Amino acid sequence: MTDTDFDRAHLWHPYTSLRHPLPTYAVAAARGVRLQLEDGREVIDGMASWWCAVHGYNVPELNAAATEQLTKMSHVMFGGLTHAPATELGKRLVSLTPEGLNKVFLADSGSISVEVAMKMAIQYQYARGRKTRTKFMSFRGGYHGDTVGPMSVCDPETGMHALFRGFLPQHHFLDRPPAWTGHPTDGVSPEFVERMTSFFAEHAASSAAFICEPVVQGAGGMRFYHPGYVALLRELCDAFDCLLILDEIATGFGRTGTLFACEHAAVVPDILCLGKALTGGYLTLAATLCTDRVADAIGNSDVPNIMHGPTFMGNPLACAVAVASIDLLLADDAWHTRVERLQSSLARHLRTAPPNSLDMDYDWTLGLSENQRELIGDVRVLGGIGVIETTRPADVAKIQAFFVDRGVWIRPFGRLIYVMPPYVATDEEIAQLCEAMYAACDCPDLFFCK
Ligand code: PMP
Repeated sequence: MTDTDFDRAHLWHPYTSLRHPLPTYAVAAARGVRLQLEDGREVIDGMASWWCAVHGYNVPELNAAATEQLTKMSHVMFGGLTHAPATELGKRLVSLTPEGLNKVFLADSGSISVEVAMKMAIQYQYARGRKTRTKFMSFRGGYHGDTVGPMSVCDPETGMHALFRGFLPQHHFLDRPPAWTGHPTDGVSPEFVERMTSFFAEHAASSAAFICEPVVQGAGGMRFYHPGYVALLRELCDAFDCLLILDEIATGFGRTGTLFACEHAAVVPDILCLGKALTGGYLTLAATLCTDRVADAIGNSDVPNIMHGPTFMGNPLACAVAVASIDLLLADDAWHTRVERLQSSLARHLRTAPPNSLDMDYDWTLGLSENQRELIGDVRVLGGIGVIETTRPADVAKIQAFFVDRGVWIRPFGRLIYVMPPYVATDEEIAQLCEAMYAACDCPDLFFCK
């Protein structure tokens, strides 16, 4: 049995069937923005391993941090012990994140950081004597992870609510906010503001918090919405005395053009979840930060402990790499310059205007072939994220092979062909990714009929 056959027969891949597995490509190594496949081919990685590898792969500074930490200890329990990698990371997270988020819980994956955020919010309400505030409010179209708590606040239709009915807690959902075209004249809709306000009036009294991904809904549709709605959420949470949890697991560390997406709205959440790019994609690590107000309320209650404590909490190896990754991002404001460059490269090669641009040179509808006109529904860019939304879902097996043949790694889902490349990708590499995206949309066979 070859390794590929073993893989097909025995290993589940994310959201795939073992009975009818999709093809997988074996990776031998990765360097810079390129993955080297076992068969000798090389592809430019447009996915940054699902938002994580912001510095690219095999990064000398991160390798050095991991190697040095390995010679000390790769792991020790966090119960009753602490270590420099955790405290150094804590210091950086407190100073980097919006003012006031002073308390840090180091979790072992994005989903777990959301579980912790939800428990924190429940514990906060319990501490305030509001024991029945056990529901959460959220937008439809969100994605927060695959464990039970996060799954229950993912989009109720595209999420797994129907399959796990009876197992998942029920929460309150408001329609997704209107899409943000990015045009400077495109503001918040008074009608939606009214809907948000009545939603809070109806549901806040039974809810611990509102949870959402600020500005960019990722896995739920790669959709952008106006930062004004995040600012309004802050006001409504204050007015109705519930907490605001922002899930920046995907958007954190510069991806949308600000270090954290909540900065587009100048909003400080009560609880913030971070993950993915936290270790530059090297190791699994996430963090849940909260304000003193939340931590103090919990600490002064009759259950003063945070009720969570995973085995690999504060893993020293992951923390040491996270410290090095943050230092690398911040050195000479590298993240800012790079993401700005990435945004203009993506906008130029996807032929669409970046947000707040009045530049009329951009018009992706010009010069399209008949196939492309039929297949492309929308094109959008924000920070280091570029999206082509198609009118028909992609046949993943076929389109994947098409992309690999063109030297790029792009993995569409549903009607979304999107990239969020490492920040270090060059303009030529972005051009190659974007050309492949447009080329795929010229091939109707790569898409299902409906
Ligand atoms: N929240 C958001 C916004 C995410 O994009 C993800 C991962 N796709 C998660 C939570 C869950 O993170 P993890 O896969 O590390 O559990």
